[in-house]
Amino acid sequence: MIEFRNVGYSYDVPIVLHDVNALIEQGEVVGVIGPSGSGKTTLLRILLGELKPTVGRIAVAPQSQLAIGYVPQIDAGERSFPITVEETVLLGGSASSARRPWFDRDERRQALSILERLGMRNFKDARLDEISGGQFQRVLIGRALMSQPNLLILDEPTSGIDLKTRTEVLDLVRELQRDGFTIVMTTHDLNWVAAHLPRIICLNRTVIADGDPIEVLSSDVVRATYGADMDVLVHNGRPVVVDVADGGLQ
Ligand code: ADP
Ligand code: MG
Repeated sequence: MIEFRNVGYSYDVPIVLHDVNALIEQGEVVGVIGPSGSGKTTLLRILLGELKPTVGRIAVAPQSQLAIGYVPQIDAGERSFPITVEETVLLGGSASSARRPWFDRDERRQALSILERLGMRNFKDARLDEISGGQFQRVLIGRALMSQPNLLILDEPTSGIDLKTRTEVLDLVRELQRDGFTIVMTTHDLNWVAAHLPRIICLNRTVIADGDPIEVLSSDVVRATYGADMDVLVHNGRPVVVDVADGGLQ
């Protein structure tokens, strides 16, 4: 569907991404992991077309009609706006640009059907500060769905949320995959992706490893990605990254 070919990027002098190669196939769910500052958001912005690679290129398969929905990382301030769930979703519609300050009937119908699909219709009139973190994540995804994308890009959908909400986000990602979306998401929540996603790309300025977590996650890969010494265990057939036990503090 879309491919990174020897992509490099720098905002200024330091190189942020270097020789990144990756192929994303239609219908896949891919988790991009790496520490803060490793270039995850930059990679997504290149995928979005918001940034142009300084080296290399992005190739889109000619037969794929690429339409991208972007769910940016949640900014705590965003939830204090006095606007409702339905209004937030409506803001994702292409026609709701600066051209006119209202929404037409078709947009409203579409927003309601998206809210229905996300199990949020009963909350349409709730204000953003009245709903849970998992519900807010659904609303942001709903906003991205208004542009009728086939590729969804989620930046850190699991960050700053509690364990129960993390499960809700996972359920939602599963539902979206079942509905045929291709999903690329970043997270620094290594064990979450290792337990649930079929493919991870370990990023630290370049691709350190790419594949099924059970095959690619090793202490060496974790060290190269995060610069930390960790043990990788296997639990219920999935890899789990844990601190190296060293006898602890005395
Ligand atoms: P991540 O999402 O993995 O935390 P980013 O892609 O946000 O990483 O950032 C990678 C590097 O690029 C960091 O060193 C960051 O400081 C730098 N960077 C990110 N955005 C900008 C920007 N707009 N201008 C200059 N440097 C940036
Ligand atoms: Mg980021």
